[in-house]
Amino acid sequence: MNMTTPQVDTVPARYWHHLDDGRIQCDVCPRFCKLNDGQRGLCFVRAREGDQMVLTTWGRSSGFCIDPIEKKPLNHFLPGTPILSFGTAGCNLTCKFCQNYEISKARQMDKLSSLATPEMIAQTAKAHGCSSVAFTYNDPVIFLEYAVDVAQACREIGLRTVAVTAGYIGDKAREEFFRHMDAANVDLKGFTDRFYHQLCSAHLDDVLETLRYLKQETGVWFELTNLVIPGENDGDAEFDEMTGWVQSELGPDVPMHFSAFHPDWKMMDTPRTPPATLMRARDIAIKNGIRYAYVGNVHDKAGSSTYCHGCGDILIGRDWYQLSDWNLDAHGACKTCGTHCGGVFQVNPGTWGPKRQPVKLISKT
Ligand code: SF4
Repeated sequence: MNMTTPQVDTVPARYWHHLDDGRIQCDVCPRFCKLNDGQRGLCFVRAREGDQMVLTTWGRSSGFCIDPIEKKPLNHFLPGTPILSFGTAGCNLTCKFCQNYEISKARQMDKLSSLATPEMIAQTAKAHGCSSVAFTYNDPVIFLEYAVDVAQACREIGLRTVAVTAGYIGDKAREEFFRHMDAANVDLKGFTDRFYHQLCSAHLDDVLETLRYLKQETGVWFELTNLVIPGENDGDAEFDEMTGWVQSELGPDVPMHFSAFHPDWKMMDTPRTPPATLMRARDIAIKNGIRYAYVGNVHDKAGSSTYCHGCGDILIGRDWYQLSDWNLDAHGACKTCGTHCGGVFQVNPGTWGPKRQPVKLISKT
């Protein structure tokens, strides 16, 4: 750690209670870790210190980068704009296919950079012309107190915030967390409890509960990502059941992204996802009434673009993270037929393009 940095990284945590046996239970996520003094939860960053729970990574980030918002992925939220992205360390899931494991499994806090206050993050995003800030790379649920503080600083200067999350969060924490978010991309990692249990040591129902909550109780714009893994969650029946559930419980306007897996972490022997599998998933989603279904992590302009569900014309052309066509009017409706497209749009698309740009934080505000 930089010894000139103020020691503010450990702060009191919210959402926990005492148990009769003397332990403390963390209620932030459905893992409900029960801790004795000095123990850390599975996420590693929430810990019991004496008679209370603390978050140990407040103000500590694993690096900042400006990304296209399409990389989160969000295709219907301020398309074409740059978004300042960062994460911290740790995670509350144990996905064997994790594609960010150096961060999510980090146990060395010196992997994290020096102090990043909420004000520094918000001002840096604004200075670089970003429209929003993303909590990503690891799950922001586990650093809830820090994420909420950053979100508040962003809103004070007119910036939006985006959570990239697995949606594995407890009831009360869920309410506070999403109250401060403008948009989210939620992983729907599979549609069987076997998948969640064996590959992530989690449960599908808790994630579905978060999705129902987002739809029924909030105004958060959210999209879903399904990382398609050969032999694990790539069957037609599972795509059919998942997309049917999304259509009936969340409605036809929630976009779905079917993304290609590449071998990583503990699944190095599993092959990459064939593009044809992603197209099959997308076709099944569309057949089930999903209006905006995409393939991800592959070059496929037809499968990455947005189409009007009224007349079928292309609304937003996309190849990977590069926008091409734009056929929405100032109110987010199709210029050809006037049908409204679900999402949050500016009058004109952003012009950031596909580039990624690492940035250093502005340290004086
Ligand atoms: S947030 Fe962390 S400490 Fe709390 S229940 Fe989940 S894994 Fe355990």
